[in-house]
Amino acid sequence: MSRQPMSDLFYLTRADVAQALSHIDPVAVAADVLRAHARGETVVPDEGYLGWTTADGHSARSLNMPGLVGGQEPVVGTKIINASLGNTARGIPRADGLTFLFDPETAHPYAMMDAALISATRTAAVSAVAVGLRTRPVLRLAFLGCGAQADAHLGLLLPRLGDLTELALYDQRPAAAAAFAEKHQAAAEAVGVRLTVAATAQEAVRGSDVVVPLTTVTKGYIRAEWLLPTATVVHVSLDDLLAEVVLGAAQVVVDDWQLVRSDPRRLLGRMYREGLLYGQDEPEPGRPAKRVDGTLGELLLKETPLADGDGVTVVNPFGMSVQDVALAHRVFTAATELGIGSRLPR
Ligand code: NAD
Repeated sequence: MSRQPMSDLFYLTRADVAQALSHIDPVAVAADVLRAHARGETVVPDEGYLGWTTADGHSARSLNMPGLVGGQEPVVGTKIINASLGNTARGIPRADGLTFLFDPETAHPYAMMDAALISATRTAAVSAVAVGLRTRPVLRLAFLGCGAQADAHLGLLLPRLGDLTELALYDQRPAAAAAFAEKHQAAAEAVGVRLTVAATAQEAVRGSDVVVPLTTVTKGYIRAEWLLPTATVVHVSLDDLLAEVVLGAAQVVVDDWQLVRSDPRRLLGRMYREGLLYGQDEPEPGRPAKRVDGTLGELLLKETPLADGDGVTVVNPFGMSVQDVALAHRVFTAATELGIGSRLPR
């Protein structure tokens, strides 16, 4: 699809994005993108990372994540998502940003939309794909961290986990966990799920079939002995596990090994640098190390489930720009059909 150069810029607010998203199945979109990625039909450059310390002493960062999904109608764009850890205390969202779509022919931007909801939805959708690859039922689920990602995860996981009886919640701010439980109580009860607030992370993790860390920690704390031998950890916040969990896991699955490996800050990238972890096609380091078993996309293409009977499975979804860009494109298409959004002159 090629547009006239310098045509108006299509803009969608967060409310527009929410309305359009209600007409889309984000889990199907995420699975399609993972498959396309495994077939080599995407371009996912390393993310651009700018970090700084604010005048108030908080860690702030800006991520720029471009991506391209190929095919007959290529989709090209980027997500800019920023965050400051001081925002939580200010009572405003920690993260905020914009997703842009580019004309594949002229490269000119043609749409711009609120990124936070798309980012949270695509992240939860990838988690839902991962959990859907389990062979064992999920009776107890744990969320560590009860912020924006937990909201999105609840929205996509609750309707998909028919065997679920309990969702254990933990947040280092007990008021956040209590508020989350209150907000979602009725929806959970309607599908027969009990929301419980745990006093510690360990209490939430113990006995849970699936554990989803959704915190902002930069240092691991989840110990191997806390986890059921059949547990799946969907390590969304990327730094909650101790290395011992990854080293002892029966299976380690990522969304993109190159992205995970290139990142020197989060756990798996650090383990790679320390020679504790290596990729499928890489030579084994000269010391005992864990091999990454593959990607979610490869499992989907081969229609192979997770090996969740043999030990803990770690799924480490780094977060791919192509997920944002593909979902943003679906949002743009839905918004156009629904007649929502505004046009900004250039
Ligand atoms: P948020 O700020 O809205 O919520 C985070 C919550 O975690 C807060 O309620 C906070 O109190 C809680 N928390 C912080 N440290 C904790 C700890 N040690 N134990 C328990 N709770 C703790 O953040 P969010 O938007 O929900 O994002 C959560 C995480 O997900 C972030 O780290 C973000 O970078 C990550 N993320 C990952 C991906 C991915 O694809 N892998 C995508 C988007 C976001």
